[in-house]
Amino acid sequence: NPLNLNDPDLLRMQGLIGGAWCDADSGETLEVKNPATGEIIGTTPFMGEAETRRAIEAASAAMPAWAGKTAKERANILRKWHDLMLENTEDLARIMTIEMGKPLAEARGEVAYAASFIEWFAEEGKRIYGDTIPEHQNDKRIVVIKQPIGVTVAITPWNFPVAMITRKAAPALAAGCPMVIKPAELTPYSAFAMAVIAERAGIPAGILGVVTGDAPAIGQEMTSNPIVQKLTFTGSTPVGKLLMEQCAGTVKKTSMELGGNAPFIVFDDANLDEAVEAAIASKYRNSGQTCVCANRMYIQSGIHDAFIEKFSEQVKKLKVGNGLDDGVMQGPLIVEAAVQKVERHIEDAVAKGAKISLGGKRHSLGQTFFEPTILTGVTQEMTVASEETFGPMAAVFKFDDEQEVITLANDTEFGLAAYLCARDIGRIWRVSEALEYGIVGINTGIISTEVAPFGGVKQSGIGREGSKYGIDDYLEIKYMCIGGI
Ligand code: ADP
Repeated sequence: NPLNLNDPDLLRMQGLIGGAWCDADSGETLEVKNPATGEIIGTTPFMGEAETRRAIEAASAAMPAWAGKTAKERANILRKWHDLMLENTEDLARIMTIEMGKPLAEARGEVAYAASFIEWFAEEGKRIYGDTIPEHQNDKRIVVIKQPIGVTVAITPWNFPVAMITRKAAPALAAGCPMVIKPAELTPYSAFAMAVIAERAGIPAGILGVVTGDAPAIGQEMTSNPIVQKLTFTGSTPVGKLLMEQCAGTVKKTSMELGGNAPFIVFDDANLDEAVEAAIASKYRNSGQTCVCANRMYIQSGIHDAFIEKFSEQVKKLKVGNGLDDGVMQGPLIVEAAVQKVERHIEDAVAKGAKISLGGKRHSLGQTFFEPTILTGVTQEMTVASEETFGPMAAVFKFDDEQEVITLANDTEFGLAAYLCARDIGRIWRVSEALEYGIVGINTGIISTEVAPFGGVKQSGIGREGSKYGIDDYLEIKYMCIGGI
């Protein structure tokens, strides 16, 4: 029991194909490391096209019985999955912290957040309403029904190893669709543990598959297999674009949650304490490794210096360390390349005139730990203005007027989340409407909840996850024209 779990059976190192736990056909594996210590936790199967094809075929075979259940029958099973997740919160959180580094408190929060999507969509499945449409000819009637889209596949990232699975699998399963998941190879154990719990909850064999290994090979099979009707992806924009191209061959529907470049705007009329709290939550959660983390902080000149002072005071208090240790608020970054990206952004900004007002370098703890950092005097010419840092570095820009900051904030191909802090109600509406983003956080840095639609515009993605809209991505509309009335 190397991870000290209450239930060691939750730690699996095999994929799940058609209800059977399997190694790769070749027997090959990849190592999985703990980023806080560099230690190898174990291995994950190095699967490819053949295993993925089997998982897809098993999903297809299992679908009729699953889709044939009533929504309430599916909801009862999903509710069990949700309840078992919550019962196993400590173990799921521990697995997550050890494989990706986030503080245990954040990992526990993620388990609750992830479970909430299952509860939500189990219920939404009962409300997949159709329509009747007034006829266009006297002897005809028009009815619209919604049906499960078919076999679905998901490719998920490492930064929310549990929630990115439930945001996709819960609506798919609630709608009657099976799903084959390829989690990030850096965080397979959270995905396997979720599959163990799903089996215990009574989700039938084949309805939820998990494969890991050669990402391009698995992706190739998922995107070209004609059985698959839908791909849902969360990850980087280049990989999302590639997968969309690959899906074109068989005209698959896609949902894409891609990169962001979130502006965080603080106006002179903002409440300073509220703005600082929101900025910390948005910037430093998960050590800056979320696609909705503030990437460009635009602070109006009147409040700029006061904001920096208070913000620095708070950021200094963020305790860096192994996520398993008490009180730690900042874990390590996921891999060495992530640290190098933060360093590159800092170097570039400093070379072009920015100032390091806090941190700025690797943490004395070693590994991939990085000091919470604040840069001031950042401008649009610097790399950080156009690229997502994905690390614990706040890039602070100073601005003077509202129209100017709207233009700067929208000056990116991305459009996932944006934030603004202000008290003037007219300004809040004007700016919120003008921001070309799918999500706008106002006087808050925390915007994720299962009840609201999460998703981006422009090159940040397609589709919405969560909320009453989230299940639509897993449904097809059928129109029946009934003649001879
Ligand atoms: P990140 O920068 O968050 O690691 P990626 O887009 O590289 O973003 O990874 C997100 C997910 O996409 C992971 O599960 C990864 O294994 C997968 N992935 C990366 N490249 C490919 C590919 N060519 N085909 C299919 N999946 C891929």
